[in-house]
Amino acid sequence: MKIYVIMKRTFDTEEKIIIQNGEIQDDSVEFIINPYDEYAIEEAIKLREAHGGEVTVLTVGVQESEKQLRTALAIGADKAVLVDIEELDEVDANSISIILATYLSKQEPDIILSGNVAVDGGSGQVGPQVAERLGIPQVTTITKLDIKEGVATVVRDVEGDQEIIKVSLPLLVTAQQGLNEPRYPSLPGIMKAKKKPLDVLEIEDLDLDVNEISAKTKTIDIFLPREKQAGKLLSGTVKEQAANLLSLLKSEAKVI
Ligand SMILES: Cc1cc2nc3c(=O)[nH]c(=O)nc-3n(C[C@H](O)[C@H](O)[C@H](O)COP(=O)(O)OP(=O)(O)OC[C@H]3O[C@@H](n4cnc5c(N)ncnc54)[C@H](O)[C@@H]3O)c2cc1C
Repeated sequence: MKIYVIMKRTFDTEEKIIIQNGEIQDDSVEFIINPYDEYAIEEAIKLREAHGGEVTVLTVGVQESEKQLRTALAIGADKAVLVDIEELDEVDANSISIILATYLSKQEPDIILSGNVAVDGGSGQVGPQVAERLGIPQVTTITKLDIKEGVATVVRDVEGDQEIIKVSLPLLVTAQQGLNEPRYPSLPGIMKAKKKPLDVLEIEDLDLDVNEISAKTKTIDIFLPREKQAGKLLSGTVKEQAANLLSLLKSEAKVI
């Protein structure tokens, strides 16, 4: 089975966001594999363990993204591919999905696994757009995946409820929290990862013209959310609290 995982290098979720001159600062920031993509990688490895084949992890990013790709190889992927777009100015989900779909269209994948959403950009667009461009079915926010004789039975999370879908391969799925328990890289895994293949491609290698992948969206402004004020704790009897609340809603919140 030819299994592909599209994975994104994102800010460590512990990092504090700093905005300077209208841009998010990324100097000396720690980067990680997008957490939802860890579920995708784990599921890909499980599929290979059950059905055989090969897991390839694919990132559109910068040279430093090799670190996260090596981590994915240490976790258990077989091959890694980086499409380096360091030189491009403006890219968005449209650009990224065109690049990924162009590469994947030449690989004949049986299944592509993506994260449900990137914890930084957070559009949840890339996976579905890749499927659409490849003309293959997609199932988003999945929490269970079984494949038998070219047919996948997928459970998807629909706002706390579940939907069960049967769909034929080739297929793209996006991973939701709860799909599995991602494994950590082992020490032998880290040693083996150093020798596993990691190909680096440029846009020209995909026969793509930079004009074909121009951004369709424009960032107008970047700002932090307003700081939340501390909450107020009301005390006294229920009657006193209700009277106090009513007075605050009138005098402070001015909503009644
Ligand atoms: C080098 C670089 C430069 C960028 N420059 C700009 C810029 O100038 N302006 C700007 O607004 N944005 C920029 N971006 C961000 C880019 O627009 C987003 O990566 C893209 O829009 C994806 O949207 P998202 O983060 O909301 O991903 P989502 O759609 O939320 O991600 C969902 C899933 O799609 C897959 N995925 C997402 N991104 C990638 C990727 N790069 N490679 C492989 N799989 C992926 C992952 O599986 C992920 O879990 C840049 C990104 C990169 C890598």
